[in-house]
Amino acid sequence: MGNKDGKIIYSCSVHVEQAIDDYVNFNEAAPQILITNKVLNCTYCDKKAKYKITE
Ligand SMILES: [Zn+2]
Repeated sequence: MGNKDGKIIYSCSVHVEQAIDDYVNFNEAAPQILITNKVLNCTYCDKKAKYKITE
């Protein structure tokens, strides 16, 4: 699944729900879902990330 530090997950629009689930499972807290302009790939596929899931 690539490098995931648990505190911040980047995801595309397809994988945002999976990213939220992973965040909640890992951190046991509800995340913020922010739109990101950074040129980073989704944690789950090779698309450009659209969302930043963070605390
Ligand atoms: Zn994706």
